[in-house]
Amino acid sequence: MNGEIVCVVCPTSCLVQAEWDDEKLINIDRARCKLAWDYVASEIFDPRRTVTTTVSVDAGPIPLVSVKTASPVPKGMVFDVMNQLAEVVAKAPITVGDVIVKDVSGTGIDVVATRNVD
Ligand code: SF4
Repeated sequence: MNGEIVCVVCPTSCLVQAEWDDEKLINIDRARCKLAWDYVASEIFDPRRTVTTTVSVDAGPIPLVSVKTASPVPKGMVFDVMNQLAEVVAKAPITVGDVIVKDVSGTGIDVVATRNVD
């Protein structure tokens, strides 16, 4: 199999030509550096995304707090994560880095606050 994948590891955004089989990446072309290899392999065999959104706040001076997944979740789980977070109400005070949801949607990945709420 082959195709083109945009590497987003840096702002250069190389359009990488990739060739792969059922198990592994075989070759890449048109990448300007070596970092594309791991990114392209991940995009083909285990695509992941960091989810950033907001959740409701109870008893705080603002109604919402921004959050993100502590690491990227499988791309196919993004909507499940968003649906779970839509139901979450975090209790103030909140500090950046506080775990708002543990093991979100069974991914094994926590969701953490990205701003403080008094
Ligand atoms: S291949 Fe290298 S230079 Fe090109 S976008 Fe990826 S990291 Fe940047």
